[in-house]
Amino acid sequence: MDLRCPYIEMNENLSTKAKITWCPGCPNNQILVAFRQAVSELAAENKIKTENIVAAAGIGCHGKIAEYLNMNTYTSLHGRAIASATGIKIANPNLTVVSFVGDGDAYAEGLEHLIHAARRNSDIKVFVHDNQMFALTTGQTTPTSPKGTKGKSTPSGSVEEPFEPLGLMLAAGASFVARTFAAEIQKTKEIIKAAMLHKGFAFVGIIQPCITFLDTRDYFKERVVWPEGEPAKTIEEAMRKIKVAAEKVPCGIFYKVSRPTFEEKI
Ligand code: SF4
Repeated sequence: MDLRCPYIEMNENLSTKAKITWCPGCPNNQILVAFRQAVSELAAENKIKTENIVAAAGIGCHGKIAEYLNMNTYTSLHGRAIASATGIKIANPNLTVVSFVGDGDAYAEGLEHLIHAARRNSDIKVFVHDNQMFALTTGQTTPTSPKGTKGKSTPSGSVEEPFEPLGLMLAAGASFVARTFAAEIQKTKEIIKAAMLHKGFAFVGIIQPCITFLDTRDYFKERVVWPEGEPAKTIEEAMRKIKVAAEKVPCGIFYKVSRPTFEEKI
């Protein structure tokens, strides 16, 4: 079935005429490139139909990605992109439904939607652009900001401990849990491809430094590691992979299991 929006003319590299207004060098650009490459390759391999993809983005710097992808996209309210994606998938289970969200979007305003989509195993793919900062509003802390982060809302430094979303996603019931680093475009592309092909709720946390308000590029370059091995089949094993060493930030696909999706059940 051809579900193509008649108003969108597809092109090969999925780019649009919209001017990219992210700060020059913003790692959102790397995520955009990785996603375009992932979709182009999956389409060339006949594993996915580009015209059957719908991407729902949230609000924040990341949300501009909806304008830069020449496919069916939707811009949601703040924190509601995952709820929108869930509804789109229920309305038409033949679609491949993606949700781009920021860390403020996913872990603050929209946290309940993230948890319940994982619990239901909704067949949607969630990509979190995690820059540990509300960047579009010029620098306020989010639930993943490191303790001590100085910003517009915390001029003396944040006193709160950040939380760790991967463990939360495992506990909530996500059937695919991964993390990647935006600077590693090829690895990010491969993880996006795996997530797109996963049947069920796929969660990918993407470390995306904000070079303007919280430049963590060097911090993560020194700490990101890519442990070898297949994704775990148990939560305990996945947690061991995530907690490989206190000073390291492991990336990769930590957990992947098969279980009935929400859409199959209803
Ligand atoms: Fe990227 Fe930060 Fe600029 Fe937003 S403010 S576009 S996240 S560098």
